[in-house]
Amino acid sequence: MFNALVVEKDAESGKTHAAVQQISEDQLPDGEVTVAVEYSTVNYKDGLCIGPGGGLVRNYPHVPGIDFAGTVEASEDDRYKPGDKVVLTGWRVGEAHWGGYSQKARVRADWLVPLPEGLTTRQAMAVGTAGFTAMLAVQALEDHGIKEGPVLVTGAAGGVGSVAVAILAALGHEVAGVTGRPEQADYLKSLGATQIVAREEFSEETRKPLESEQWGGCVDAVAGVMLGRVLKQIRYGGSVAAIGLAGGAKIDGALITPFILRGVNLLGIDSVMQPYESRLRAWSRIAEVLPMDKLEAMVQPATLSDLPQLGADILKGQVRGRVVVDVNA
Ligand code: NDP
Repeated sequence: MFNALVVEKDAESGKTHAAVQQISEDQLPDGEVTVAVEYSTVNYKDGLCIGPGGGLVRNYPHVPGIDFAGTVEASEDDRYKPGDKVVLTGWRVGEAHWGGYSQKARVRADWLVPLPEGLTTRQAMAVGTAGFTAMLAVQALEDHGIKEGPVLVTGAAGGVGSVAVAILAALGHEVAGVTGRPEQADYLKSLGATQIVAREEFSEETRKPLESEQWGGCVDAVAGVMLGRVLKQIRYGGSVAAIGLAGGAKIDGALITPFILRGVNLLGIDSVMQPYESRLRAWSRIAEVLPMDKLEAMVQPATLSDLPQLGADILKGQVRGRVVVDVNA
């Protein structure tokens, strides 16, 4: 028997309840590889899955945790053998398949990658899905050309935002972080942001078709009114990598004008269905460029029993940086 955070749904009220329980290996879902999980993390989607599911959870009882790192315990696949260190992000693990909030997980071999050289399992999860997505976003901006001027990061004090700020700064870009939490300005500067922009600057819709060109590119975690405004301020030919919708699922106030008159690109980033080669490329670049002292500065440690509270906090935008869950603590 081992510990896992199990979310159960009451058939009558439809209410969900999350608590740490002892479960056994025969309860784990099918998969070729059984992993002794060491660390998992708290992402926005985990907040949804710890709570009522938000349409992401297929069946209850459910074990959330959309990412994990650990050591292979048993494998029916030639690519992995007991003792190998592995990392998992995406593929609807923690949503449609039991995830990393457990001392053991069983998954498809295709969903794993070997732990990138130069990273510990804890560091890999300090990065986690949020940091992996931040790297995919930066790579997409690079592929389309980052223009002159600061690169904007919205939702900067959150998980994706924090890692995006640190990666862009480490790559030598000027970085402007947008935050609704002015008290996090020093934190964002310590990660490499050279400019802090108040969320309010982007919170009103404008009827203007374009605004003055300011940003060489943008990693956007927020959408809503903010993305509509940002698009109008991107430099000619620049791009926005849209990764999330912490501020709403619509792009309010967006017009076609920035795309037609300034050749702006809106790049959608999905970390869930990334093929193996793309995951390897992003992880090895993370190990190469992300300064480990900055990564450590983002980390808040947690245990399985902290998760119900942290899940609620992240949905309210109250978590700073990355929460790393030691499932064996
Ligand atoms: P976090 O909660 O850690 O960060 C989100 C940040 O957005 C908050 O910290 C806050 O930053 C800002 N924010 C929150 N609410 C609002 C609001 N109403 N208006 C404006 N800003 C707001 O989440 P993550 O960084 O983990 O994820 C961010 C988004 O990206 C989520 O929607 C998530 O589902 C999505 N995501 C998508 C992925 C993909 O594959 N495309 C992968 C990972 C995440 P601040 O306080 O600095 O203003």
